[in-house]
Amino acid sequence: MHQLTLAEIARGLADKKFSSEELTRALLARITQLDPQINSFISVTEELAISQARAADARRAAGESGALLGAPIGHKDLFCTQGIRTSCGSKMLDNFKAPYDATVVSKLAEAGTVTLGKTNMDEFAMGSANESSYYGAVKNPWSFEHVPGGSSGGSAAAVAARLLPAATATDTGGSIRQPAALTGLTGLKPTYGRVSRWGMIAYASSLDQGGPLARTAEDCALLLQGMAGFDAKDSTSVDEPVPDYSAGLNASLEGLRIGLPKEYFGAGLDPRIADLVHASVKELQKLGAVVKEISLPNMQHAIPAYYVIAPAEASSNLSRFDGVRFGYRCENPVDLTDLYKRSRGEGFGPEVQRRIMVGAYALSAGYYDAYYLQAQKIRRLIKNDFMAAFNDVDVILGPTTPNLAWKIGAKNNDPVAEYLEDVYTITANLAGLPGLSMPAGFVDGLPVGVQLLAPYFHEGRLLNVAHRYQQVTDWHTRAPNGF
Ligand code: GLN
Repeated sequence: MHQLTLAEIARGLADKKFSSEELTRALLARITQLDPQINSFISVTEELAISQARAADARRAAGESGALLGAPIGHKDLFCTQGIRTSCGSKMLDNFKAPYDATVVSKLAEAGTVTLGKTNMDEFAMGSANESSYYGAVKNPWSFEHVPGGSSGGSAAAVAARLLPAATATDTGGSIRQPAALTGLTGLKPTYGRVSRWGMIAYASSLDQGGPLARTAEDCALLLQGMAGFDAKDSTSVDEPVPDYSAGLNASLEGLRIGLPKEYFGAGLDPRIADLVHASVKELQKLGAVVKEISLPNMQHAIPAYYVIAPAEASSNLSRFDGVRFGYRCENPVDLTDLYKRSRGEGFGPEVQRRIMVGAYALSAGYYDAYYLQAQKIRRLIKNDFMAAFNDVDVILGPTTPNLAWKIGAKNNDPVAEYLEDVYTITANLAGLPGLSMPAGFVDGLPVGVQLLAPYFHEGRLLNVAHRYQQVTDWHTRAPNGF
């Protein structure tokens, strides 16, 4: 049963081939048996899962239907879940039980999903390797020596290992698309404002966006359908109608204009990845797409701009963790300053502390204009580049990552080397655009992803292109050995 996709599960439940409770129990047993090898869960919510599965079975028995009714999923551990630990991968929130559900969590629960657990992640979603979690590194199911990508590495590893058919994730600079690429999955970062951020623990609020991680584009469409939509509780949520994503999956690609940015294929890209990207373009051409070279001239400035803006927003967002209101408090503080200093010093890991310091510095009087303001200007230039490109093409295609999954520990002494891995993903966050990564082959037994970007609110186009590609390729159906 663990090989079933969300779409197959929906059919199986509708045809009464199995119940949601049977499926849920089978997957819970699989998590117990296999997760110790990959460490993809922070919490397994067995009791909640069984009760939600029973409720879904009862709703189906009463005549209700729905693609997600009875579907088991996991939530990245930064979506607040009422009464359940919501740790954000940090010692700071190890004892934090959220008092309410995030909008994404409650919307999916209403649609009938079953929460099997909360997935591991980089601490406060900062990272590209899932090594900074307080709960330990997550291992890539394709090779335990390698990272699964981050920061949604737990969601990705769990889905790749067939412990779950799909999971929620978030993407501030690539954290849905990059782990999707490194674990052989399909992952979609929606347009900023498409999915509510209410109840999602903030990292960099102007960049953060929740989205689905699954094996297929078809399943991403189903999960996104349950997540997307206007939410009055999130002031940046956009009141745009949500299309029927599944209905558009099979649209023809005849005449689709694909842009290949010349800046994406320069130095720094593993040539073996470049070959697979070009092979995917050939497949899409066979389906009727036409290809055009384009230019995104400001792309080279994206990493420096992002690594000013994201830490700046993080330093502000994380000031709420003061040892008084949330989470960890140090033992026996002598006074208030000592309480702040030691609670934060002991509660946050080294990468989070580094980001807070960089962010506070960039925002400080005297440096604000030189760093933060400059970075915001670059952000606008990057957006303008995309707007110009989308005058000529319907989607932009390129590699998701410059390199294959690296060995756990390989970049630990060089944080900037890890930041550079985000080179292809962060521009979509800076511009607020939707992006998708889909599996496009393997190098040395490790998965490779191709990224597609589209204009605002054209998630459906991304899902359509990826779905058509997945009808003529089988990379997305491959499972890691032993899973
Ligand atoms: N790797 C990027 C960072 O560390 C992106 C993380 C994310 O998307 N949450 O900031």
